[in-house]
Amino acid sequence: MSTHFIGNRRVAGSSGETIPVLDPSDGQVFAHIARGNSEDIRRAVAAARAAADGGTWGRLAPVERGRLLRKLSDALLAHHDELAHLEMRDCGKPVKQAIADATAVARYFEFYAGACDKLHGETIPYTPGYAVMSFYEPHGVTGHIIPWNYPMQIFGRSVGGALAAGNACVVKPAEDACLSLLRIAELAVECGFPDGALNIVTGYGHEAGQALADAAGIDHISFTGSARVGTLIAQSAARRHVPVTLELGGKSPQIVFADANLDDALPVIVNAIVQNAGQTCSAGSRLLVEASAYERVLEAVGARIATLKVGPAVLDFDVGPLIRASQLQRVEGFLADAKASAMRSIAQGSIAPESPATGFYARPTLIADVPMEAPLACDEVFGPVLAAMPFRDEADAIRLANGTEYGLVAGVWTENGGRGLRMARAIRSGQVFINNYGAGGGVELPFGGVKSSGYGREKGFEALYGFSVMKTVVIRHG
Ligand code: NAP
Ligand code: MG
Repeated sequence: MSTHFIGNRRVAGSSGETIPVLDPSDGQVFAHIARGNSEDIRRAVAAARAAADGGTWGRLAPVERGRLLRKLSDALLAHHDELAHLEMRDCGKPVKQAIADATAVARYFEFYAGACDKLHGETIPYTPGYAVMSFYEPHGVTGHIIPWNYPMQIFGRSVGGALAAGNACVVKPAEDACLSLLRIAELAVECGFPDGALNIVTGYGHEAGQALADAAGIDHISFTGSARVGTLIAQSAARRHVPVTLELGGKSPQIVFADANLDDALPVIVNAIVQNAGQTCSAGSRLLVEASAYERVLEAVGARIATLKVGPAVLDFDVGPLIRASQLQRVEGFLADAKASAMRSIAQGSIAPESPATGFYARPTLIADVPMEAPLACDEVFGPVLAAMPFRDEADAIRLANGTEYGLVAGVWTENGGRGLRMARAIRSGQVFINNYGAGGGVELPFGGVKSSGYGREKGFEALYGFSVMKTVVIRHG
């Protein structure tokens, strides 16, 4: 797989250099990918430009575009097992999670296939003697920088939406997780995607990623990743006056009132922090509990966390490994800080004996009495660590919920409908779930952040507006 995918062909990188690919379950190298550079990006952008500017892709009727996306969706479903296996190896995803991700990317393409020919503009009332109409047109060539935690899902929501709106795409996956996307590009060609509609350049973020963000010929950038790199991307885009969508991190609260139905809430609360080993932008990583129910909820959540087992992806334990050694060290750093403080460690899951010592395994952990100013309360851990704290009343819950730099997702658990809605309106975040929580789910649901969680929306129909530019045409007919 040590090739890029440019102009419907696998092509060797211009430098000939490669990057080793590790299996997080055992820490061993099992493949290599091409180390892309600015020359590879230049070639990919040229292929995409040719596709968009009068190429077959650019001239395709929306209904035909939709049919191609639908064909790809079917091919993704037909190959879901193979794709899931690639991500199990590449990202350490347990079997069930890998299959869910492979199924989700097919669903994204199904959703966007149906939307291709439904993106219509308007006629606008204006001065007598004039007719005005608006068109949603593609930007042209869109760049997509994708992180390692959900490569297929984020490809689906970002590239799926951009293709549906008629753009040609250049994709830079994270160097830790490219393999499934290279395979998807091959499937797209088998489905009949025209030359240059979809291009993938692998490599390091500071090389290939930065080159993509700086590339002349890119008309829009969709970035999903950390707030730090999001700033760099926005700066690059600003120099060329190119619009960006930033899908950044989160520190999303799960807010439990004393009247909540705990039987319903418990499995959801725990899953929202351990899904994908906590490496989820919308992980429910803060547990805010009404003071009168605090100890009761800690005990119940802790009991559940204590039963969780961590182990190799292929054995499909509750939790898989983290992506790489540095991520494990980061998570262990947060736990060491907690241990050295007055915070209470309530419960931890266990590492299964089948786990190789060279893999990157972190135990799911519930830490209580986390002060709002502690890094564990405000920084993204990106591991299976749940930080709990009590609140007094609705106002206090809102203050804590809004008390970080992030604003991506929130969950509210209460049997009081009015309170649920009041909370939802007062919380500053892109999504709020009442009596449920969707860490990453919901193809149809517009998704994105406020504050340092970013701006712009992907998923749902809303994404198509971001991947389009509106043109207004004014006719004087007398
Ligand atoms: P990251 O370091 O920001 O990397 C994200 C992507 O950017 C990768 O493809 C990376 O490539 C690339 N990149 C790194 N430096 C770059 C640069 N200077 N110029 C251009 N591209 C560059 O983030 P991460 O640590 O991989 O991912 C975790 C973060 O992503 C978390 O903060 C998480 O919350 C966020 N995330 C957000 C969402 C969302 O939808 N809001 C979804 C998933 C993840 P390399 O990895 O190859 O260096
Ligand atoms: Mg990998």
